[in-house]
Amino acid sequence: MITRFAPSTTGEAHPGTLLSALLVWLDARQRAGRAILRLEDLDTTRVKTGWATQLFEACAELGLTWDATELQSAHAAAHEAALDQLEAAGRLYPCACSRAARAGRRRAPDGGWAYENTCRGRPLVGGWRAQSEPMRMQLDDARVELVDDGGLDLSQTPAHDMGDPIVRRRDGVIAYQLAVVVDDAAAGITDVIRGRDIAPSTATQVMIQRALGLPTPRYRHHFLLLETDRSGKLSKLHGALPYSQLRARMSAEEILGHLAYVAGLIDLPRPVSASELVLDWSRVPTADTTYAFAR
Ligand code: GLU
Repeated sequence: MITRFAPSTTGEAHPGTLLSALLVWLDARQRAGRAILRLEDLDTTRVKTGWATQLFEACAELGLTWDATELQSAHAAAHEAALDQLEAAGRLYPCACSRAARAGRRRAPDGGWAYENTCRGRPLVGGWRAQSEPMRMQLDDARVELVDDGGLDLSQTPAHDMGDPIVRRRDGVIAYQLAVVVDDAAAGITDVIRGRDIAPSTATQVMIQRALGLPTPRYRHHFLLLETDRSGKLSKLHGALPYSQLRARMSAEEILGHLAYVAGLIDLPRPVSASELVLDWSRVPTADTTYAFAR
């Protein structure tokens, strides 16, 4: 069993990120597997090195140590080889649609707008390296039947439900959907454990795996820690309580105790060390939840 924790280093580590780290780490440890930390740092417009360092240090303080640490940006050659392969298969096309052209049409399972594959068939003149427009990948129009290890039904016809994904942005950055598939396969990931916010993308990733001839790992999507935003709606934590602020108020063992409690691993919040925790997925809540870490 090989799994990974793959946070984007686009902001401070917050409790939702660290909850995910804890669940990935515990699952690997209990199954005598390997757990890799992959810092997803491709989005050069949003990433700061300081955040990667902070995330790594936060994990270390919590006792979450990794069998290997990788920077996603080190995998550029593999990402480019995947684009070459997709181009050779005739699957890449440049997209001329504006964001506005997509909006208001049909909702996708992730809450965004489905892409109608409007630009399918546009020629890729001069190859993918010469493109100054975003590039999409033509998915097979087939349905993916998929239920994850937590019983979440992820079945979709991604080419229709989501639309062909962007695989390379206008600014040349390799898009998440392609990078995640290439990197998971290169690391030999057998089990992906990650937050439910990404569940609607899984079927798309399976289609990309199939197009590239890569294996599909097992998946499990866990509940999210949410916060109430100003309008009273629940949303993902956006650093309202980043790790550095929490850590200024309590010890790493106390923070871990709160995470373990909210994950159903202990009955009351108390200082704990990672090595004493036992993961039982049947006790982990399935519904997203809010939690006040510092009262
Ligand atoms: N980097 C993504 C995120 O932080 C997660 C990638 C994944 O686990 O597939 O949301």
